[in-house]
Amino acid sequence: MVTVSCSTGIIYEFNKDNPPIQEVDSGTTLTIQTYDCFQNQIQTPETEVTAIDWNKINPATGPIYVKDAMPGDILKVKIEKIEIGDQGVMVVGPDLGVMGHSIEKMTSKILPIKDGKVHFNNIALPVNKMIGVIGVAPEGEGVNCGTPGAHGGNMDNKMVTEGATLYFPVFAEGALFGLGDLHGAMGDGEVSVSGVEVPGEVTVTLEVIKGQSLRHPMLENDEVFTQIVSAETLDEAAKLATSEMIELIVQKSGMPLEEVTMLMSAAGQSEICQIVDPLMTARFVVPKWLLAEMGVLLIR
Ligand code: CA
Ligand code: ZN
Repeated sequence: MVTVSCSTGIIYEFNKDNPPIQEVDSGTTLTIQTYDCFQNQIQTPETEVTAIDWNKINPATGPIYVKDAMPGDILKVKIEKIEIGDQGVMVVGPDLGVMGHSIEKMTSKILPIKDGKVHFNNIALPVNKMIGVIGVAPEGEGVNCGTPGAHGGNMDNKMVTEGATLYFPVFAEGALFGLGDLHGAMGDGEVSVSGVEVPGEVTVTLEVIKGQSLRHPMLENDEVFTQIVSAETLDEAAKLATSEMIELIVQKSGMPLEEVTMLMSAAGQSEICQIVDPLMTARFVVPKWLLAEMGVLLIR
């Protein structure tokens, strides 16, 4: 199996001009190793957070060129497995996250991870492994890896975990896929601006889907199908995630907009991914049983 190491190549920006570090056929399963979002600069409680190189933040390993992927296609990314390191780090500081207006000092904390728990002082939190940064090269200008968008990127969506499948719009030849910023745990909102940041490795299967296009990423797991949208405000992101999903269901089901809107109001969920990155990210979540009842297949 192909293994891509973070020492082979990382990017700080998703950009169609980045040279690929690996080329794979559609359908390939590969393992991608990642640094944590601080590029492993904070390893001990003594590390001065202010002294780290803030230009080395949110590295994604990649880009990976997927053969046959062309603009207008969809890149399907099945997350087969996520393995994480045995310690995580969290950071808070002035102007960072929801409490940045009150927090006066950059503060970091090293959190041991063992036996399925993240250990915070004497408190054991359940491990909830997920990927913060995952995406493809955007249309036009590059987008730094700290910012989410239609190309994915720093979506910080806790549903991006083992067993989930993501669907990205392809904007550049080869898609130029990359990922990084793994978390040992993170709640919806990522309110402090950091999850439990960990290095690790992710096994994914990359597959090109022809004949259908998307405007924003989608995610599916065993239970639900979701539309993910990032925008300037959370209101905008939440509304656009909802309307994109409703429009897709109308198109695929042939049911009237009025009725699809009622059904989504009755059984769909408007949820927050994160509220702390340069753009906000929301998802609209539809149970698969409902799509099955409606006879709708969202992605061929
Ligand atoms: Ca992140
Ligand atoms: Zn992170």
